[in-house]
Amino acid sequence: MERRVNAGRFEENEGRSLSQSPWPYTHGRFQNGMVGLANGGLTCCVNAVLQSFYLAPEFTSILQRWDQRREVVDWGNIPYGMCRLFDVMQASMSGVVSAEMFLQCLTLNHVKANKQHDAEELFLNIFNLLLDQLQNSDMAEEMKSLYEIKLEEFVNCQCGKVSVKDSSMWSLPLPLSGMGVHRSLKLEDSLKMFFRPQDLTMKNKCFCPDCGVKCPALQGVKLISVPKILNLQLNRFRAPSRRGDYVKKIYSSVTFSEMLNLNNLPISEKAQKCGIGQVQWEDVTETFGSCDYLWGKTAYMLLYKRVEREEPPPADGH
Ligand SMILES: [Zn+2]
Repeated sequence: MERRVNAGRFEENEGRSLSQSPWPYTHGRFQNGMVGLANGGLTCCVNAVLQSFYLAPEFTSILQRWDQRREVVDWGNIPYGMCRLFDVMQASMSGVVSAEMFLQCLTLNHVKANKQHDAEELFLNIFNLLLDQLQNSDMAEEMKSLYEIKLEEFVNCQCGKVSVKDSSMWSLPLPLSGMGVHRSLKLEDSLKMFFRPQDLTMKNKCFCPDCGVKCPALQGVKLISVPKILNLQLNRFRAPSRRGDYVKKIYSSVTFSEMLNLNNLPISEKAQKCGIGQVQWEDVTETFGSCDYLWGKTAYMLLYKRVEREEPPPADGH
């Protein structure tokens, strides 16, 4: 029996070493290790974000290393609150647990738990609080790299001058507008819309250092690298187009496949030239397995997990 005493948690662990059992997939009522979170009143968005962390072993294995070093109990600490909740989820035999303790932790961080949230905003809010409060820069960097999408932003002036700069995002906000509020849409089409370059004309013209004046230009982004966990946010709310109008929800159904191929998207020359390690861009982008969840029939957030290619066997005798 392993006995853990810090913070009074995990008093007996039935001989399992915690280091050998990252949170998900160890216990739980269901064979696949999933444990539900009860809706505490408009908490479906918080619950979904928590599940997205809980079901990513790459993420929980980092958080668990921090948990084992933890000495001080702080009820307003997000990493601590998450560890506590994951403990309860892991040990649950009932299939559904309450996230109340974590909701209180959010409240202490001035995040309203019982409220309809924008999924992307809430994900970023919790993730940023988590990184800030880890107090371990190495682990924070490891967590960041799990989700960081590296992009190249470009502006092409009509004179031929091309300006580029690198940027990064934790998730890609994908547009659904322009497709009608009840139309059906493929995820790949929404991705293509995100990467489609925009004409900058009229009041949106851009200053060109070569021309010395504001000029019409083409603006867009290209992929440099994709992370292990690719977070795609579906923008289901359309801003009011005129005065007196109101925000509309877009109910379009979005179809998505289990495997996502990113090779049709614009890719930066940097990515094509360098690859990653020995790995070519095609190897990185062609295989993303799904790890998605739906809210009713109108998903807000889709997570794809990168599937590593198996190495070919070495040539015989070498
Ligand atoms: Zn120019």
